[in-house]
Amino acid sequence: MEEWRQFCISFLTENADIESIRNEAGDNFEKLRVYPDSIQFAGGSYFFIAVDNFQKALVVYGEGCFFSEFEGYEVVCGSKGAKVCELSNKNCRVIRRIFPFINPSNHRGTAVTVGLGDRLGLASAGHIRLIKGMPVFPVLAQQSVRELNLTGRTFEDVLTEASWAVFQEGYTERFGADGDHLKTKQEVKTAVNCGYTMITLDCSEHIDNGAASLLPEEAERKYLLLPKSERELLESQYIRKDFILKEGAKIAFKPEDFKKIILVYLKAVKFAIDIYNDIIRNCSRDMDFEISIDETLTSTTPESHFFVASELIAAGVKITSLAPRFCGEFQKGIDYKGDTARFAEDFTVHVNIAEHFGYKISVHSGSDKFSIFPAIGKISGGRYHIKTAGTNWLEAVRIIAAENPSLYRRMHKFAVSNLVEARKYYHISANPSKIPDIDGLDDRELPMLMDMDDSRQVLHITYGLILLDKKSDGSPTFKDEIYSTLNIHEGKYYDALKRHIGRHLKELGVVGKGDIST
Ligand code: ZN
Repeated sequence: MEEWRQFCISFLTENADIESIRNEAGDNFEKLRVYPDSIQFAGGSYFFIAVDNFQKALVVYGEGCFFSEFEGYEVVCGSKGAKVCELSNKNCRVIRRIFPFINPSNHRGTAVTVGLGDRLGLASAGHIRLIKGMPVFPVLAQQSVRELNLTGRTFEDVLTEASWAVFQEGYTERFGADGDHLKTKQEVKTAVNCGYTMITLDCSEHIDNGAASLLPEEAERKYLLLPKSERELLESQYIRKDFILKEGAKIAFKPEDFKKIILVYLKAVKFAIDIYNDIIRNCSRDMDFEISIDETLTSTTPESHFFVASELIAAGVKITSLAPRFCGEFQKGIDYKGDTARFAEDFTVHVNIAEHFGYKISVHSGSDKFSIFPAIGKISGGRYHIKTAGTNWLEAVRIIAAENPSLYRRMHKFAVSNLVEARKYYHISANPSKIPDIDGLDDRELPMLMDMDDSRQVLHITYGLILLDKKSDGSPTFKDEIYSTLNIHEGKYYDALKRHIGRHLKELGVVGKGDIST
């Protein structure tokens, strides 16, 4: 008999109170595999997540008023009926109606918000265990279209997996869902219709980077192609004016620079206004709207940031956060590359502009940027949005290296030999020749590869190729084994995430250094 059935018969008795039931499930977790914090009671049924036949499932115990709404197979369990339900999108839609805390919400007014992208759909519970009780709003579902394509998931899949984690952990604080780096109206509509609460609009396809390096005559010629009335209006608003920011910092536009800013950013501004008016403004719920202008070749100048924000605010766009491109390099999965003192100066100006307009600064590719976290926390006054994603996958890889060395060795060799393909999607500086020959390493030495920049980056950017690769018979080469390894060692994965993301929060100054055990 599945252990959860024993649990129902022994503990879900008439007069048992829910706290003592949760305690029993917690004390006997290794034996019963019932997630203690998931246990809820509503409409005459108990609900909880348990392991059934080696897979996690929702169990509905007792034929209450919601029983028939779930899809699953029915069993008799003691004197009552029970239903074992797959953690599917459809069942998730039903459970969200019964328990409102499983629905994402916006984070307006919250000081520290952290994007915790989870490419496997296994990390969110670890993140929740870390931030429970901390002054941090987690954006648990956060995926870009590029990531969806590379992992073979949909917006709804991502939100569903985060939602089940929220239910599993009994996390009744608020959490968010971010349709990340969306580039088209259709993508934004899809994410909004799926219930996402935050949209990060990627304006990069409407930013004309090349215009920044035009010769003055060429810039002038292109600028004059804009309608005269539009030029005159813009010039009257920006040129020969000083805009005073907090603490006396000043933004002023030189005419020749201003023309280039218009050429680079005006189309992106119009694109963002159009998306906002068409979809976000009329949405039945309040959305977080983030503007991303970070995917550019050069760092965003203060004047450019000011211009973009000022135009959007004037058009009535409610911005929650804006991500400029900062100086230095924000490569995936490794520390900041660049002059940290210069970063602090650059970051200060961008924070001042954000505060001037009343939104938060957003830091993308925020994973593992330990050398600048203290500056981010301090300069922003503890008000920022920061996104992490790939580092959560790397912690999964670390667990695989420790617990299933043979799988790790195969993934590693595959990653190294498919690097050229992966580099089409992500820019990294990793040099594969610096990675030690894996055949010369002992199994015990494998996890250490996740502490070395070159191997970290190689495994970081090849996640999509690893997850989607198929054998000649069409079955996945690695995916199923990755999931089964991580499911067996779930507790260790959660602990690794608590440690690693915990270190992020410590350096950001969210919590005292003694508050997180590592
Ligand atoms: Zn970005």
